[in-house]
Amino acid sequence: MRDFSTGHEWLSINTATVRKSRGAELPLPDIIEACVRRGIRAISPWRDQVQAAGLAKISQLVRTHDLKLSGYCRGGMFTATDAAGLKAALDDNRRAVDEAVELRAPCLVLVVGSLPGALQGKAAHKDIGLARSQVRDGIEQLLEHSRQAGMPLAIEPLHPMTAADRACVNTLEHALDLCDVLDPSRTGALGVAVDVYHTWWDPKLQQQIERAGQDRLLAFHVCDWLTPTTDLLNDRGMMGDGVIDIPRIRNWVEAQGFAGFSEVEIFSTGNWWGKPHEEVLDTCIARHKTAV
Ligand code: ZN
Repeated sequence: MRDFSTGHEWLSINTATVRKSRGAELPLPDIIEACVRRGIRAISPWRDQVQAAGLAKISQLVRTHDLKLSGYCRGGMFTATDAAGLKAALDDNRRAVDEAVELRAPCLVLVVGSLPGALQGKAAHKDIGLARSQVRDGIEQLLEHSRQAGMPLAIEPLHPMTAADRACVNTLEHALDLCDVLDPSRTGALGVAVDVYHTWWDPKLQQQIERAGQDRLLAFHVCDWLTPTTDLLNDRGMMGDGVIDIPRIRNWVEAQGFAGFSEVEIFSTGNWWGKPHEEVLDTCIARHKTAV
């Protein structure tokens, strides 16, 4: 396993981690500047942040600073209640692929979606099986475009607590089953994003990381699981502050040949988003050396 204790060349910042500074929205160009100033070589930006600043501007900043991306957040949300909704989702995903290409991302991360309307507070139905089949079909259709664009898709299995509203793919095993069905010859067009927050509890995690292998391990996301956790979405912990044995999981991932960035992805309404972003980034650098 790589030694991270002496430097942070393999640290990437998922820009949601500092989307707020002292509680106020922090524009993506400011985030990029703060990362560059600290010698952080890679980021994973969110589409809404890119759109707010303008794709052309962010693309230019990435090139000017020779920044790498560890992923692009995000595509997915494939489910809908009717054909028009499914088509709109697919069209939006195609645009996300094109943006990822422009930003030279190594993959587009997919949060696949689940029961339509649940995220807004009222699910349109209870058929999670239907949601799963729409997700499968959606990825299959998106692959036609993403293959041509040369943009790998990374399915991110989300913790089962999100099964109703964000993702009906909740284990690495399920994500890899989809990869096997949709890309059986392992062309590199489809893989997974392993986020320790979503997967650490899984008794099959090591086995499924080995099953994934280097060619399907497209991204590695880190943060920590706090006890107690006060919010299902926005109470993620800084590495080292919770119960996840991150080095153990990184060891499993790197044993397969993964040699990419460790992407810090922390959503934290009650804590880190209230702090100055400079402090958050400095803490990410320090913890990357001691707890990742
Ligand atoms: Zn993630």
